[in-house]
Amino acid sequence: MHKIDHIAIAVNSLATSIPLFEKLLDTPCYRVEEVASEKVKTAFFQSGESKIELLEGMDPEGVISKFIHKKGEGIHHIAFAVMDIHEKIKELKEKGFEFINETPKKGADNKWIVFLHPKCTNGVLIELCQEIS
Ligand code: ZN
Repeated sequence: MHKIDHIAIAVNSLATSIPLFEKLLDTPCYRVEEVASEKVKTAFFQSGESKIELLEGMDPEGVISKFIHKKGEGIHHIAFAVMDIHEKIKELKEKGFEFINETPKKGADNKWIVFLHPKCTNGVLIELCQEIS
């Protein structure tokens, strides 16, 4: 993996959490974006080489709303930046890892993304992402 691209945190309200993280990280939120296909609203902050992504569910049936309902607010996934997402998927599958989706889809912040299945990574949801050039 190239580096940790971002750590994503599920929150009840971006309106509340954006000012909180701006205060904490001492940096302005640089991007707010809806990902309609995932029924989620995202907000990004730069922190050194990595980013913090806040996730607010837009639909009670969406994955983030369900996650918060079950576990409460908190860390939702860790994303690693990769140079060649297709190559990395192939490599990790050969090593026995399973994916939730094996075809990269368009995520927030101009990225192709895939998720590994948390059952093969000790319950941690891992995202791979590659910048769309
Ligand atoms: Zn992410």
